[in-house]
Amino acid sequence: MSLLITKECIACAACLPECPNEAIFENRSDCESKGYHLTDGDTGQLSHAPDDTIYVITSDRCTECVGHFDEPQCAAVCPVSDCCISDPTFPEASSVLLEKARKLNPDKAIDDTKVWSGVRS
Ligand code: SF4
Repeated sequence: MSLLITKECIACAACLPECPNEAIFENRSDCESKGYHLTDGDTGQLSHAPDDTIYVITSDRCTECVGHFDEPQCAAVCPVSDCCISDPTFPEASSVLLEKARKLNPDKAIDDTKVWSGVRS
């Protein structure tokens, strides 16, 4: 599954340069204008930003950092608790995430051992 950014976001920008897949955007409009999608998310706390006030993560590019790092880098650097969380509506197996990482980064080495323990399967 990809991660999503909850309404706890303070738009500090700490996550943006850390993403190895360029999956994070400053706001919903920027993301969608480039042709990327946001999942339906969930209701309430788990929703993507309904407007352009906070950052978003597109499921088209997020691999939970699988293939690059041992844990999601956006969540690791975020100063706010429960801001970058797993999207419960978009489960993806580690094999799918590794394949996505390879397709997104044809010029980078993708490490099969870099799989976050939070991945569902
Ligand atoms: Fe980017 Fe990793 Fe965060 Fe996904 S989990 S948005 S790939 S930094």
